[in-house]
Amino acid sequence: MKTSLSKEDQKKIVELRRYFHKHPELKYQEVNTAKKIQEELKSYGYKPSFGMAQTGVVALHSDDTKKRCILLRADMDALPLQEVNNTPYQSKNPQAMHACGHDMHMATLLLTAKELKNKKLPGNLKFVFQPAEEGGNGAEKMVQEGVLKGPQVEAAFGLHVWSGLPIGKVAVVPGPIMASVDMFELTIIGKGGHGAMPHQTVDSIVVASQVVNTLQSVVSRNADPLDSLVVTVGKIEGGATFNIIPEKTKLVGTVRTMSKKMWDEVPVHFERVIKGVCEAYGARYELDFQRYTPVTINEPHMTRFVHEMAASVVGEENIVTDCRTMGGEDFSFFLNEVPGCFYFGGGENKEKGFIHPHHSPYFDIDEESLLVGVEVMKKIALTYFNEFPTK
Ligand SMILES: [Zn+2]
Ligand SMILES: [Zn+2]
Repeated sequence: MKTSLSKEDQKKIVELRRYFHKHPELKYQEVNTAKKIQEELKSYGYKPSFGMAQTGVVALHSDDTKKRCILLRADMDALPLQEVNNTPYQSKNPQAMHACGHDMHMATLLLTAKELKNKKLPGNLKFVFQPAEEGGNGAEKMVQEGVLKGPQVEAAFGLHVWSGLPIGKVAVVPGPIMASVDMFELTIIGKGGHGAMPHQTVDSIVVASQVVNTLQSVVSRNADPLDSLVVTVGKIEGGATFNIIPEKTKLVGTVRTMSKKMWDEVPVHFERVIKGVCEAYGARYELDFQRYTPVTINEPHMTRFVHEMAASVVGEENIVTDCRTMGGEDFSFFLNEVPGCFYFGGGENKEKGFIHPHHSPYFDIDEESLLVGVEVMKKIALTYFNEFPTK
């Protein structure tokens, strides 16, 4: 692939990525990160604004707010993880690491903004640096605070570097691409007593065990086998010692699905199973079922468009159309409001040792993917308004 970046800017994009990598900040604490982004944008001639969703940064390509507008997004937050990689750009902040690649996203979007600054465009571009993607729903906050208005955004595009996808490949997938994320906390309430006299008790541990097993029947018997559904209990808490039957046992877990229909239905199936099991044993329950992130669904026309743009950069043979993950992504909040496409840029390079998955303390990405990222994003921005002349 040929890059349009000057030698200087090729150096700059790597420096920026490494700066962000060295100075990671957790969700809603991206203050220094936001400062750096604003400094850069100002030096390119932009007038960024700070503070949407607490630490977000937004910049417009043109002051003309009457123009049609599309949104280009990068997320900013790091993960609460201790980096173990020994590199010159290793994280300097303890228990904070860019282990998902959001450092790459920021550097890519900044250089895209720099490249486009002096280009005449029929429409406007809204560069959005979003806080708190990792479990903070920063995108939802930005939507609530009006990021899609003034100028009104008509389409949204976002890139995620992808560790499981070889360098040089771009994955553009129509329809559902990342799963919904729900979290549940369930407390089973029985009747405590002596471990030797279970008949005088309602054993919350036995009921909880039954619930863990039976919940899997929602996956195997309620979900359409052609849809994907995951129910995981990640934590069980109950009991104090060997001879006491505890009154309460707590289960904490997550539910993921790629199907909008399933996402709507799952809480009903879920509670029915819990209620049934508890009734059978004479136990009670308290359920806190929280919806975190909706399914990320790519609109077909926008996906086709991004497919063409990416293919013009890396070649049709390097476009992957079946890369999905049960991980969640809050870009879904933008795609719930406007059509758009969230796509993956390959960052895996086995020869260079970039093989570790997202959220691993060994995670790292081939920086070559920064250049692909800028070219594809640029193509999207330069072509969109001609490709879709009217809304
Ligand atoms: Zn992540
Ligand atoms: Zn991520």
